[in-house]
Amino acid sequence: MATRKAEPYRIKMVEPIRLIPREERIQKLQEAGYNVFALKAEDVFIDLLTDSGTGAMSDNQWAGIMLGDESYAGSKNFYNLEKSIQDIFGCKYLIPTHQGRGAEKSLFSQLISKDQYVLGNMHFDTTEAHIHLSGGIPVNLVIEEAFDTSTYHPFKGNVDIAKLESFIKDHGAEKIAFMLITVTCNSAGGQPVSMKNIREVSEVCSKYGVRVFMDSARFAENAYFIKKREEGYSGKSIQEIVREMYSYAEGLTMSAKKDALVNIGGFIALKDDEELFNRVREVNVAFEGFPTYGGLAGRDLEAMARGLREVLELPYLESRIGQVEYLGQRLMDAGIPIQYPVGGHAVFVDAKKFLPHIPYYQFPAAALCNELYIEAGVRGVEIGSLLLGRDPRTGEQQESPMELLRLTIPRRTYTDNHMDYVADALIELYKRRDRIVGLEFIFEPKILRHFTAKMKPVSK
Ligand SMILES: *Cc1c(COP(=O)(O)O)cnc(C)c1O
Repeated sequence: MATRKAEPYRIKMVEPIRLIPREERIQKLQEAGYNVFALKAEDVFIDLLTDSGTGAMSDNQWAGIMLGDESYAGSKNFYNLEKSIQDIFGCKYLIPTHQGRGAEKSLFSQLISKDQYVLGNMHFDTTEAHIHLSGGIPVNLVIEEAFDTSTYHPFKGNVDIAKLESFIKDHGAEKIAFMLITVTCNSAGGQPVSMKNIREVSEVCSKYGVRVFMDSARFAENAYFIKKREEGYSGKSIQEIVREMYSYAEGLTMSAKKDALVNIGGFIALKDDEELFNRVREVNVAFEGFPTYGGLAGRDLEAMARGLREVLELPYLESRIGQVEYLGQRLMDAGIPIQYPVGGHAVFVDAKKFLPHIPYYQFPAAALCNELYIEAGVRGVEIGSLLLGRDPRTGEQQESPMELLRLTIPRRTYTDNHMDYVADALIELYKRRDRIVGLEFIFEPKILRHFTAKMKPVSK
């Protein structure tokens, strides 16, 4: 029996992608101000910008799309989704939203009082923004190992339990709105949180009366890592593991664009707090839509209801996470420095080590990202000093602790052959890394500059 696993699906519809000639790639990148966010998607061959909403739906999900019930109120697809959520998470109450940030906005508005803290392992950026918008203060309590790219730790998304307890003691439980565990921890590189850690967080929080919720975008990928890496879980099904994870929380927010295997959607699910459910549902009508559609079409609800069940299938998760690991392994075998072990949805190349001659203020990860596009038509994304920006008080460019090129893998979209192609291109770049130069601004926007900045290569 061969040890290599193949994708547990075959392809019945294809979308052509096109590699434009190298000369054109150089020109397109120049026109885009050396910023891959400004490229047209049709000029990208393999797009690894994000795993959010970029996955492929199954034939079963597409069949569900045709069964969309577009009634304003009481659509049957809402009840199908409600049933999926009750079965999978053990949550009685469902509030659909147009995507994850809609869920954050509606839920947080009812949980946070002014100047209360919201604790987490590491909040995602929209989560952090919605905590601020609701008057709260985000606090990250992830373990130190999360910041060390080269040392193995099976659960780099874990919360530092000692830090958590001392934070609650120092500030008082009444100053804390709630605890939000992000699974997997996106901002730490898709790193998982162990069951033991989730349990301990819940124990500490219940001791002090702090509520626990989960930011659940990649809940099934997290459950898969628990099955593979945590003692006592190898014999359990993904569904059983998910149920146990959610037994330690009272509700969740979800970006369905990740582990619900759809292109758009989100929701809030709550276990049994009817009073909170009623309040959140009320504001959600104003923000997102009537309680049985929440900003989505009936067909979208149906695709989510089905995707949530498909994502729990072990062969799918083995193939999904296996593909990310495969790309990571190919790069490691070639001596390319990456965040280790690789997370569930992306490989992070350590550009600080790849391009040690480029200082942080010339954005090594963005420079590497651009070179990869020119080399192979592949689009990754910079997670480093360009993203971090300037100190709002001094105006100084801040130095990010890590300069990373993120290669984010969409679900069920590319084959391992595409991964080989990406790996070969990066290995080529690694051979001529000395000749890669940094970037400087031509135009620097004041806020969220990485999306719209215009740059040029520094002259040698
Ligand atoms: C994507 C994401 C969100 C936000 O969801 P959107 O659907 O993009 O609005 C929140 N938290 C995490 C962990 C995410 O990955």
